[in-house]
Amino acid sequence: MKPICPECKIKMHKAGFQFSGRHKVQRYKCNKCGYAATETNKNIWPEGKPQEVQKQNAKEDAMYRLVIGEQGNEQGHIKYTNAKTLRGAKTVLSKELEVYGGDGWGRIEYQHKNGEWERL
Ligand SMILES: [Zn+2]
Repeated sequence: MKPICPECKIKMHKAGFQFSGRHKVQRYKCNKCGYAATETNKNIWPEGKPQEVQKQNAKEDAMYRLVIGEQGNEQGHIKYTNAKTLRGAKTVLSKELEVYGGDGWGRIEYQHKNGEWERL
């Protein structure tokens, strides 16, 4: 997949490599406006893509997930977090609940090594 120039919204082309510290990174350049960036620059990747990747990763190494719902909706929905500690998960949960402005509920679940989720 080729990155998109944030100015022209057209595909950028490979333009050699660059060193970022000790890492060799691919450099891309826009043929129209000359905008250049390395592959590590999030601006050049189509919108939504990094988020998707993040979500998948979160799901894979999630240890904690949240079950959040509005008052009256007993089922709620699951949100995976990157939190590695219960404290971290609590922080995420309180931020999520802010959206509901006091009308929401949420709980934290912990995943055991065997893949089972436990309500905390
Ligand atoms: Zn351009």
